[in-house]
Amino acid sequence: MGNMGTNDNKQTKNLKLADAKLCEKAVFTLLRSEQLNSVLSMVSDGLWEWDVANGFFFINLRFSEILGYKYGEMPENKNTWTHLIHFEDYPIFSSYFEQEILNEDQKEVQIEFRIKCQTGIWKWVRLKGRVLEKNNYTGIHKMGGILIDLSYQKIIEDTLRENERRLMQQNEELLTVNEDLAEANIQMQEINRQLILAKEKAIESDKLKSAFLANMSHEIRTPLNGIVGFANMLKEPSLSRDAIDQYIQIINTSSFQLLAIIEDIIDISKIEAGEIKINTVRLHLNNLLDELYSVHELSINTSAVKLTLQTQFTSADDEILADGVRLRQVLTNLITNAIKFTTEGEIKFGYTVDKDFLVFYVSDSGIGIAKENQQLIFERFRQINNQEKGKNAGTGLGLSICKALVELMGGKIWIESELQKGTTFYFTLPLTRVSTNKVEMKEELPLSENIDWTGKTILIAEDEELNFIYLNELLNSYNCQIIWAENGNETVKKCEENSKIDLILMDLKMPILNGYEAARQIRKTHPNLPIIAQTAYAMTDDRQKALEAGCNNYITKPIDKTTLLEMINFFFSKELIPKA
Ligand code: ADP
Repeated sequence: MGNMGTNDNKQTKNLKLADAKLCEKAVFTLLRSEQLNSVLSMVSDGLWEWDVANGFFFINLRFSEILGYKYGEMPENKNTWTHLIHFEDYPIFSSYFEQEILNEDQKEVQIEFRIKCQTGIWKWVRLKGRVLEKNNYTGIHKMGGILIDLSYQKIIEDTLRENERRLMQQNEELLTVNEDLAEANIQMQEINRQLILAKEKAIESDKLKSAFLANMSHEIRTPLNGIVGFANMLKEPSLSRDAIDQYIQIINTSSFQLLAIIEDIIDISKIEAGEIKINTVRLHLNNLLDELYSVHELSINTSAVKLTLQTQFTSADDEILADGVRLRQVLTNLITNAIKFTTEGEIKFGYTVDKDFLVFYVSDSGIGIAKENQQLIFERFRQINNQEKGKNAGTGLGLSICKALVELMGGKIWIESELQKGTTFYFTLPLTRVSTNKVEMKEELPLSENIDWTGKTILIAEDEELNFIYLNELLNSYNCQIIWAENGNETVKKCEENSKIDLILMDLKMPILNGYEAARQIRKTHPNLPIIAQTAYAMTDDRQKALEAGCNNYITKPIDKTTLLEMINFFFSKELIPKA
């Protein structure tokens, strides 16, 4: 019974399968009927059937429409329409559709490819299909399936892809913008920080300037009061010789103080305007330091402080190329400070040689400078609140000028200091040694006493009568003859007329013909005649121009007596190398 039941079921199943196959066959036979075609034409996908054995390829109306053909226009031959498949897609079509499907029963295959429409444009379609019939003996198959128009899907896919691409691009752009913003943010924070610093500096600078101006008016007023006050007192007819000498001494000291302040102000303005030029000349380093030693030793008015000079070169080989004026200025400033802030012990100055650099130092055993102030003192107008009275005298400009000058000369400056123990300032200069014995006009001058210029004639070219009187007074006592020319023209003329003139002291700013032009003209006929230009302190350019015009040297106004005497003496005691 049981067995019978099972057999019945099997039979029923086989029957159902046979029915279904018959039904399917009937449908595909009907497919070619017009009625069915008309029904199926309402379906959006196309239908196809392929008679593999005969090569016939049947399609319905919708299949033709998808490809833009009218019904019946497409040849019912497989080869004809497979020619329309895009050559890039054909291999997929052939491998999956023609080979795999023929070997595997009932396998549903679907592939997507481009196919050329009747209008010539390419269209994406999906072809789905499976084996409908297989003959076990002949192996002949029949296939069928549907054709789906993918145009819209492809457009949507393309649009989606494009959108995705755009989104990714936008994303990347946003990421870059984000990075830029983050960077801009960091920069803004940095700018902000710098602005705050600049603001603090500006406020600080403003305070310093106010303090400087207040200090300056005091600094200028003190020597000015001295000069004006004591000059007036000199008018007193009943003054003793001692009192007169004392007043003159006060007027002198005050004048130099005033001059030093003005020089500092002019220097700092020129440094800020970038107008200071370094004028390198040949000089004997030891002579320069000896001279500084002599000057400063005199200014120490206590026996509790000893000044020492230490040099390294011998006097015979100490000739170097450097700006003597600026070097002297820096050292003077440092030594003056050392003297100002030292009450007992030793002040040492000098230099050592380190490879291609000279290392100068000024060391004292004075009050010292606290660590936190050691950089501040190089800033303009900075003065550390020195407790001791009188120690604040000064403008707070000296060290900032020193720093700027040292750096302009190619060196650097630094400090080592300990409170109550002392301070050492160091600075370097590039070392350029001169190893020739040739004497140049601008070499440093030795100190000389016992001047006697008997038989010598000096022509003073000066348009200001007061200046002439001063120079005349100054030179008169050395037995020389003085001639006065009041302008450039007169100077040239007097030179031509008088062959006895031994030296000219040439003011550069004169009416009719200026000093440069006069020097130039005189140089043509008198190549050996020494000409010393008188230049205004602030005008460093004048010095260069004067040398170029043919002057042998220059002296800065207000004229220092010793310097002038030494300079003239130098020319009177040397055989001169003719100026080109
Ligand atoms: P100033 O003209 O006021 O002396 P500087 O720029 O030369 O200006 O010096 C600035 C400040 O540095 C001084 O006011 C002083 O406080 C400090 N200073 C400079 N040199 C020394 C030194 N050798 N010992 C102690 N303090 C010094």
